[in-house]
Amino acid sequence: MSDVMAAEHVEVAEQGAEDNPAIFLHMVERHYRQGEETLHILRDVELAVWPGQSVALVAPSGAGKSTLLHLAGLLEHPDHGEVYIQGQATATLPDSERTRIRRTEIGFVYQFHHLLPEFSALENVMLPQMVRGLSKREARARASELLAYLGLGDRLIHRPAELSGGEQQRVAIARAVANAPRVLLADEPTGNLDPHTADHVFATLSALVKASGLAAIVATHNMDLAARMDRRVTIREGKVEELD
Ligand code: ADP
Ligand code: MG
Repeated sequence: MSDVMAAEHVEVAEQGAEDNPAIFLHMVERHYRQGEETLHILRDVELAVWPGQSVALVAPSGAGKSTLLHLAGLLEHPDHGEVYIQGQATATLPDSERTRIRRTEIGFVYQFHHLLPEFSALENVMLPQMVRGLSKREARARASELLAYLGLGDRLIHRPAELSGGEQQRVAIARAVANAPRVLLADEPTGNLDPHTADHVFATLSALVKASGLAAIVATHNMDLAARMDRRVTIREGKVEELD
């Protein structure tokens, strides 16, 4: 082993990154008050996802999928319990630190792409990197590489309106991982696509997760697509349960 590799190995071992899930929801609870009533959406949720692992979250509408993803992405606070990102507890962190973790460690993909219409595919993937402080040249290089990896090498200067639905979602995926997060959260990312396109986007997403060592949680209604992921979980009476 070279000195450089040895040094890297020590660093990883000291951080304990190998021992930690990329994301871990522990005893997580979320409820909403509605007048006299309390709606328990999530209770005692346990879910750990490891680097390089993709988890499909398959549950009917209203089961709490989006709620779970918002909590996992530090967009909302749990009413009880803890969300660990790479071993770090986040519940009591100040908002500024939660925002920093969200920006650097977590990528989001939604059902609708939310790309900026006046910018090209390339620019849409460059922007988050430039916000983070990368030079235009570095951002362009990584954006081109990512888009090519996702099969969009010949669509770089197209604007969102000039792309198909599946292409738009692949650009949205590239944008979500542009800053090399450790966790990718996708909320019904193919809910708006025809079955063939959805299948292609899912396949691309799975390959990216494997290749990059990301941990991914992907909410979907579609059991066929979920079968492409490493694990399948559902939400039953507020709890996360493994399927299979
Ligand atoms: P899913 O994404 O699985 O369709 P959601 O997480 O969006 O489900 O919602 C789960 C449940 O929580 C639903 O019954 C929804 O009505 C309820 N809910 C979500 N947000 C709120 C809120 N802000 N106030 C009250 N109830 C909410
Ligand atoms: Mg939802």
